[in-house]
Amino acid sequence: MITNMNILKNRLMEKGIKPTFQRLKVLEYLSNNLKNHPTVEMVYEELLKEIPTLSLTTVYNTLNNFLEKGLVSGVIITGTEARYDFDTKYHHHFLCKICGKIIDIDLKCGYALGEKRTVSGHRIDEVHGYFKGICKNCYKNLGTKPKGHSSS
Ligand SMILES: [Zn+2]
Ligand SMILES: [Zn+2]
Repeated sequence: MITNMNILKNRLMEKGIKPTFQRLKVLEYLSNNLKNHPTVEMVYEELLKEIPTLSLTTVYNTLNNFLEKGLVSGVIITGTEARYDFDTKYHHHFLCKICGKIIDIDLKCGYALGEKRTVSGHRIDEVHGYFKGICKNCYKNLGTKPKGHSSS
């Protein structure tokens, strides 16, 4: 997928972020990998192939800057690491405990859609719904285990 660098450049400038080459590459990676909710390390390892001078700290600081400015959202579903999401509209996530995939869940949730602005009288600023379990692919594979296992 090819993303127009000018669009990304404008997105950075709209948020008051100077569009350096490295920031643009980080943003490009996120926009091209919408569904994988990468960690800092995943972004770093991928971009390192193209930018050998890149440091992990730069990627970390860049992502945190994007997060602060609302350019990306954070997904803290695993409990141990931050994942980043280019899709900043609130949506729910599902974590598969077998393959580790984080999947977007399209749920008609009035809170996530912004229709409901308060909960028990409290004003809502953010909505994060986290589901954990076994994704449909892994669940399917569970059902078709090799028959060598004796079940008697
Ligand atoms: Zn899975
Ligand atoms: Zn997501």
